[in-house]
Amino acid sequence: MPVTMLMYHMITHPKNANEVRLCRTPDAFRKDMEQIRQAGYQVLSFATVLDGVAGRVKLPDKAVAITFDDGIACAYENALPILQEFGYPASVFVVSSRVGGYNDFGEGFGLPRRRMLTSNEVRELAESGIDIGSHTANHLWLGKTDKAVVFQELLESKMVLEDMLGREVPHFAYPFGSWSTQARDTVIETGYKGACSTLSGRNRKDTDPYLLRRSEIKGSDAPWQFGLKLNFATNDMPPLSDVRHIVRQLIKKW
Ligand SMILES: [Zn+2]
Repeated sequence: MPVTMLMYHMITHPKNANEVRLCRTPDAFRKDMEQIRQAGYQVLSFATVLDGVAGRVKLPDKAVAITFDDGIACAYENALPILQEFGYPASVFVVSSRVGGYNDFGEGFGLPRRRMLTSNEVRELAESGIDIGSHTANHLWLGKTDKAVVFQELLESKMVLEDMLGREVPHFAYPFGSWSTQARDTVIETGYKGACSTLSGRNRKDTDPYLLRRSEIKGSDAPWQFGLKLNFATNDMPPLSDVRHIVRQLIKKW
């Protein structure tokens, strides 16, 4: 402890300017994984992070977890081989109603059409040791949605994915990082064991397991920016007074 959780969306080349933030190229992603190894971090599964925040196990001082939101096909095509190269665990949060379809929930944001994971690919990821979690059925803003619909989104996605995999799906990630006290309570009611938000910061003993913190890795992040996020788990840059000191330390490490 503390554990930094990284959030990725796609591991591929962007098709247009709107996608730049969401697409980390395979080369940049491999460099991220190398930096994790070189900095001496241990990569933990989501389940191990939950054990750590609950105080069931003591986690290493330098720990990180890797997550992917949405369930775009590049999680299977591009991310999995690189994760396997390094032997790292990861979680993929899948929008259950779009499995085998397209990312049409992103159209309003000027995002190009992308193929989503098929059910076979979801199963193959799970068989390769990747943790499959839910990202709702339809990628809704849960913080702005009526409780009955939130309940339905959480339960339906859990059941569909559990049927697909033949095993429990205990983990969840809020689409758009959108949550409310009511949405969080409904995540618990529908039987999940943990959920991640997009709140900044590292996860420690007693961090709320239903609002785990994550740092977004953007397509445009340079290696030094990735290094800052890995070490400080921030989505915003730290105060300018700290930056010079931090960068000097990182450069020394490289
Ligand atoms: Zn999403």
